[in-house]
Amino acid sequence: MGYLFSADAFNSLLAELKTRYKIFAPKIYRGKGRTAGTDLVAYGEAGELAEIAFDRKTAFSPKEIIFPVNQTMFYFTKEEFQENLPPKEDKDMIIFLRACDINGIERMDAILLQNGPYRDVYYEKLRGKARFFLIACDQSWESCFCVSTGSNRTENYSVYVREENGQVFCLVKDRDFEEIFSKYGRPADVEPRFIEENKIRVRLPEEIDQRVFGHKLWEEYAARCSACGRCTVCCPTCTCFTIQDIFYRDNPDCGERRRVWASCLIDGFTDMAAGVSFRAGYGERLRFRAMHKAADFKKRFGLFMCVGCGRCDDACPEYISFSKCLNRLSEIMGEVGQR
Ligand code: SF4
Ligand code: SF4
Repeated sequence: MGYLFSADAFNSLLAELKTRYKIFAPKIYRGKGRTAGTDLVAYGEAGELAEIAFDRKTAFSPKEIIFPVNQTMFYFTKEEFQENLPPKEDKDMIIFLRACDINGIERMDAILLQNGPYRDVYYEKLRGKARFFLIACDQSWESCFCVSTGSNRTENYSVYVREENGQVFCLVKDRDFEEIFSKYGRPADVEPRFIEENKIRVRLPEEIDQRVFGHKLWEEYAARCSACGRCTVCCPTCTCFTIQDIFYRDNPDCGERRRVWASCLIDGFTDMAAGVSFRAGYGERLRFRAMHKAADFKKRFGLFMCVGCGRCDDACPEYISFSKCLNRLSEIMGEVGQR
């Protein structure tokens, strides 16, 4: 059912929702950007319409809400351990997010919940608390290529939300929210709108195989990449982490095990015993990432992994563009196919 809200009515709705849910949305943090005088647009808890940045793209995806950067898995002593799972009584979460990011979370579900016999319980518990409020995109940003990856659309949401001149149009799909939306909103016809065109068009490689391995493209990238890892931490589909055991200074017999985001691009990621590192070169690391996003994930789950959000292109200090990389890979496969 569709509803129309004035700003005041939507704020009353959010105030009541907040008594039952934690609400996360894109927010503007003034002056906190990467460079002096710029703003940071990032996820945070929100409670009012004016706090929600409907018209800005976040530098980081909402994945940090259900897959925290730094998460304690369990506490231990010499004799026992205690798992650190969110208590049942913790509130469920509402996340305002875009279609590309919902598609990104579906990729994370595949990796963390459907990849082999064991489900990631830490992810599963937080993921199970999340309800999606789909934000309508009224524009496509410079680096977006979601239409090429098919991630411009989704049906996986509880409520669709579009803000227009201070009014809010909603379409409620999840019955759990019907009563509260009907309490504050006026019935209205609401049709979800999705982005149908991006400035950037990417030709996704149909087939991609080891014949691209020796191409000079990777040397070009190796000369430019600084292995900072920004392209992976901002990506809504990257899920790699490392494990750290922290021993408490005042009692070294006790501690906690944490998992912390890691990246296939940074130094040390593939280091093994005896000083072996099997992707020491930066070009090899970028090739691994490209193969994972464009080929390996698809072989396993039948979906192209990258959702075309363009955040990695925005974040790279060396202007290495993943959309251009994908187009180059399509060209290279075309060339090798003709030989
Ligand atoms: S565009 Fe870049 S950041 Fe976005 S999903 Fe694809 S690889 Fe990840
Ligand atoms: S953001 Fe750019 S420079 Fe940094 S690791 Fe990724 S490709 Fe390399």
